[in-house]
Amino acid sequence: MKIKFLGTAAAEGVPAIGCKCRVCKLSRALGGRNMRSRSQALIDGELLIEFNPDTLWHSHAYGFDLSEIDHCLITHSHPDHLYLDDIDNFRRDFCHGRERAISFYAAQDGYEKIKEVSLRPWMGGAVEPRLVEAGKAFTVGGKYTVTPIPASHNSDTSPVFYSIGCGGKKILYAHDTGYFPEEAWEILKGEGRFDLISLDCTGCLGLDGHAYVRHMTLSQCLDVIKRMESLGLVDGNTVKVVNHFSHNGGQTYDEMVAAADKHGVVVSYDGLEIEV
Ligand SMILES: [Zn+2]
Ligand SMILES: [Zn+2]
Ligand SMILES: [Zn+2]
Repeated sequence: MKIKFLGTAAAEGVPAIGCKCRVCKLSRALGGRNMRSRSQALIDGELLIEFNPDTLWHSHAYGFDLSEIDHCLITHSHPDHLYLDDIDNFRRDFCHGRERAISFYAAQDGYEKIKEVSLRPWMGGAVEPRLVEAGKAFTVGGKYTVTPIPASHNSDTSPVFYSIGCGGKKILYAHDTGYFPEEAWEILKGEGRFDLISLDCTGCLGLDGHAYVRHMTLSQCLDVIKRMESLGLVDGNTVKVVNHFSHNGGQTYDEMVAAADKHGVVVSYDGLEIEV
């Protein structure tokens, strides 16, 4: 399996919209990996994770063809993960020559929002909403086994994160979530070993004074990794990635790398591609 991190920031991006904080000023000046768009990932060039306001730009920047994407997993209904106005753009009178529907998989709140768009008179069956439920595995495209796992995040957004398996390999994509709830650990025990995990690190090093309960900092990610190790869910060969960063956390990409490197943790950046 190959995962490409198309975007790696929290909702407001880095540098953030209208912000003059130290991280944003420094990131603007340094450029490169310090510049982050909203979080989205692509598995094997075909399975999209999240549909945010940067989706169109990601497809242009990385040269993947949205007209060929048939499946998209949505973690929850916050707009940096589910941008409904662009789902409407799959309408039949705008998408010429595409006969297949694109399926969006989401838990209750996201599902209802996608369904409302899909039923608009001009959509013509172009968008297929699919309801997922924590703990209930399903198959995508006849090849990916996907298990939704309950996240510790705003409950009104029906938050889940995903275990995605294919061809004997397994990836955990865990955004947005705080330290995993106990129900999540129960499901994870049945998932077995992961080849790659991507953990929410919105709070960066957690030096900004904010308490992170619906997201994590690097030290919380290390706590998750430690517990996953004790359960045999990750080992020395598992690639451990931290992802979904906010300028509010207080560190740039370069500063995160300096802190995460010594723990053997990879700091994501826009365009990072890893094959497991
Ligand atoms: Zn987010
Ligand atoms: Zn800022
Ligand atoms: Zn969120």
